[in-house]
Amino acid sequence: MDVEELYQEIILDHYRAKHHSGLREPYGAEVHHVNPSCGDELTLRVELDGDKVVDVSYAGEGCSISQASTSIMTDLVIGKTLDEAFALSDEFHVMMDSRGKYDPDEDLFEDAIAFVGVARFPARIKCALLGWEAFRDAALRSSAQEN
Ligand code: ZN
Repeated sequence: MDVEELYQEIILDHYRAKHHSGLREPYGAEVHHVNPSCGDELTLRVELDGDKVVDVSYAGEGCSISQASTSIMTDLVIGKTLDEAFALSDEFHVMMDSRGKYDPDEDLFEDAIAFVGVARFPARIKCALLGWEAFRDAALRSSAQEN
């Protein structure tokens, strides 16, 4: 199995069995984001405890890239502080802007390394970013309410 096939397998595994899927309570903020170019839709909730991300729950429809990316994002940000989660989100954006010329750190990105190949296809980048952007939006709103 070459690396492209491995990355494809990671994406399909998450698409078939999404992690942390479903809308849960309690939550600090809920957002609805769409990616009109592909038809992806996502409703996402974030629950914070102070500056710690304690839950991210969601209901989405759309392509395998958007669904898998959201699933992997929840694995990465739940349990982290907001600063850590936003730093990771920033680095994910850097990877997606790289046109595939990026050497991802597997310890940092875990399954999200699979999207380095997607960065070569400009039409799919918004699919991969949908969940991350919804998370940032909901986390900022939730954080503003707590303070
Ligand atoms: Zn899509």
